[in-house]
Order: sequence, then structure tokens, then C-alpha cells
Amino acid sequence: MEEKTLPPQPLDEWMLALLACSCPAHLPVHLNAEKTELICACGRYAFAIGEDGIPNMLLEEAKVLNPDADPAQVTSAEESD
Ligand SMILES: [Zn+2]
Repeated sequence: MEEKTLPPQPLDEWMLALLACSCPAHLPVHLNAEKTELICACGRYAFAIGEDGIPNMLLEEAKVLNPDADPAQVTSAEESD
């Protein structure tokens, strides 16, 4: 594994695929239009992305976009049953 000092980079698709929301449902997240936040698939939480490009996935520090959104009621595409 190579380790190089790279400048901060925008989040890539592959990294998004690795990330999951910290809510109990662990739903996938996606970038908002400004690429400053990661939005949980449940629509409830927004996680800020720091200047270093690292998202803060702490649930207690996440912004609540929609208090009515319930992660437990969102079915992940991978778990269609
Ligand atoms: Zn969530």
C-alpha cells in the first residue's frame, strides 16, 4: 500500500460506497449538491465534510435535516426481501 502525501481531495464514489450513516439503519450516504455534506439515505441526517475532506460521521454532531424521517423505515436496496 503506497502512502503519499496528497492534497485534500473531493470524496469519490468509491469512498462514498464505503461510508454508511451512523444511524441504526446504517444507510448509504450521498453528497449534497454543494459537496459540503453527506446526506443519509433516510433523509434525516447530514454529516459535515471537513476542510481535509474527511466527513464527520458522528451521529451526535450530525445536522438533523428532517426530524420526521425514520431511518428504520427506509429499506436499503441491498436488503430487499
Ligand atoms: Zn441515517
